[in-house]
Amino acid sequence: MKLFFSGSNKKIVWIRICLISLCFWSCGCLAGCRKRPVEYKSVDTAMGTILQTVLYVDAEAGGQGEQLTDAVRKQILALEERELSKRIPDSVIGRINRSAAEQKEESGAASLQQTVEVPEALYQELLMVQQVAKDSGGALDITIGEVAALWNLDNAAVDGKLFELPENQTLQEALEKSGYEKLVLKDGNISVPAGVSLDLGAVGKGIACDRLLDWLETVPEVSGAVISLGGSILTYGEKPDGKNWNVGIVDPLDTTAYAGRLSLQGQWCVATSGDYERFVEQEGVRYHHIIDPETGYPADAGLRSVTIFGQNGCLCDALSTACFVLGRERGLELAEQYGVYAVLVEADGSICCSKGADQFFEAE
Ligand code: AMP
Ligand code: MG
Repeated sequence: MKLFFSGSNKKIVWIRICLISLCFWSCGCLAGCRKRPVEYKSVDTAMGTILQTVLYVDAEAGGQGEQLTDAVRKQILALEERELSKRIPDSVIGRINRSAAEQKEESGAASLQQTVEVPEALYQELLMVQQVAKDSGGALDITIGEVAALWNLDNAAVDGKLFELPENQTLQEALEKSGYEKLVLKDGNISVPAGVSLDLGAVGKGIACDRLLDWLETVPEVSGAVISLGGSILTYGEKPDGKNWNVGIVDPLDTTAYAGRLSLQGQWCVATSGDYERFVEQEGVRYHHIIDPETGYPADAGLRSVTIFGQNGCLCDALSTACFVLGRERGLELAEQYGVYAVLVEADGSICCSKGADQFFEAE
């Protein structure tokens, strides 16, 4: 097609070309001149573990970075205080445990149900946890509180002198009080029989990642973040250099080194359960914090660590614990059933990836 411009048309076209060019030039300049986000880092403790926060904050929002990293910590503390902590008597879990314990003392009967209303978000998370408990045949069991308390590994791992090997008889009695089917979720309420003690240690950090993700999505100044809370890590948004997030997987055989790393883009939750996180060694035996609800003893299914990664923190955390208890075959099956990825480190240090996980994983 041949284009023909009359004199005045020609002028208009040239003006238009100039305007469009000017527009492109100024947009290009704005993009090019836009300042890179500023990195803010903080290290703290929360949920009985180390909290490491890295936020990439718009340069224009200057000075807000420290408030934002502080807001991350405060939210985790509030979540623990109001909902998840078994040590805080007025948290949701504290209240249910307290009333279940008091009722037991008063009546001596284990059949009386104790009911507590649960905030909507936690109710939905508990429904998911109970589904994993069911699908794992009880390998994940948040009613394990009484048994976990007997092992006391949260404290004993810090000070070995606090460790005392529980009597088998006492363990079996405590096991009888547990069982995921005893926990009933109905109409926004949670209820358990008297004497049952809940422990959300297996899922609490994953829940924290989900809540932080909801919050980050409301903070436009944050363009990228990596938040690591013990064995659970949340990646969000993008790095200023556009590269992928690198998440190291600790080598359980040498915890000062990495077995490998995940290369992830955008938002992910990565949850690891390992026998090196909280443990005591006595006469050559390692007693760690992940309990097999079938035996009441630390799980011994041939794995040293399980890393699960996907989009939902609560689900990944629940599955990391369940798969650790189940071992390689059943663990991989369960992870694949839920459409998440798994990287397992076996007792001899060999690494096994679930279907598709190897595209993200690189061994050291
Ligand atoms: P994680 O590190 O996510 O595997 O969680 C381990 C924590 O969950 C322990 O410190 C206990 O508080 C609790 N726990 C241990 N074994 C189990 C289990 N089989 N099911 C649910 N919670 C457990
Ligand atoms: Mg877990």
